[in-house]
Amino acid sequence: MTNPPYKLASRELHPADTVVKVKDVEIGGNKIVVMAGPCAIESEEVLLEAAKAVKVAGAKVLRASAFKPRSSPYSFQGMGEEGLKLLKKVGEKTGIVTETEVMDTRDVSLVADYVDILRIGARNMQNFNLLKEVGKSGKPVILKNGVSATLDEFLLAAEYLLSEGNKDVILCYRGIRTFEPAIRFPIDAAMIPLIKEKTHLPLIVDPSHSTGIRILVAPVSKAAIAAGADGLIVEVHPCPEKALCDPKQQLLPEQFKKLMFDLSKVAKAVGRSL
Ligand code: PEP
Ligand code: MN
Repeated sequence: MTNPPYKLASRELHPADTVVKVKDVEIGGNKIVVMAGPCAIESEEVLLEAAKAVKVAGAKVLRASAFKPRSSPYSFQGMGEEGLKLLKKVGEKTGIVTETEVMDTRDVSLVADYVDILRIGARNMQNFNLLKEVGKSGKPVILKNGVSATLDEFLLAAEYLLSEGNKDVILCYRGIRTFEPAIRFPIDAAMIPLIKEKTHLPLIVDPSHSTGIRILVAPVSKAAIAAGADGLIVEVHPCPEKALCDPKQQLLPEQFKKLMFDLSKVAKAVGRSL
């Protein structure tokens, strides 16, 4: 026994894989779950077009943010509650599970009213009050690692959610900052099996915010599935050059369709399916 500091998240203490069920989607089972959609909710038209495109390609969850944590206060900050309304509407219209970021303790119940899965972004991984509030929300949650967090810190952040009674925690590895500026937040492939070894929680990977570069999204996605990730969260936009944020990394629907086709082969090679 290594006596890990994270008791509820530890695989040593809870050997069986956790499978998070959201409507008809199971995250952490044998099937790989791909979540996809635009970085931000920009308008009903763009969101609906993106939702239809990702669903037909095989994505099971629509990602889109109404609250955007931007490095600059002058950048687009998201549509807020108006955006949440659009996400709910588009989710219902297309019959897809929805997820979105919650950044503030004051917004947890509001966001929880509109979407199926809450997301805690990298910048808030150690916002302990937010973790506690989301832990109490009763909603499944995706927790992204902080850009300079260690593995223990990441799993202790998950422990905050679990210790408030939320069992539906999905981890998202989105890389960390390194001394190499060519890639924003490199994904270390070895971290994927290591995280799976340390915890029973499902693990997805974000190739979009990790690389920040469109041509790297597909190869990193394939590597993540080959290394044992349970799913991915990928940015897809009908017209990336017009996107209000992250235009350089969002995939075109055609590129996403091709990626899903390639991923089905990778999944099969590692004994899983899409
Ligand atoms: C996002 O997924 O929309 C996002 C902002 O990612 P991260 O929190 O990992 O930077
Ligand atoms: Mn983004």
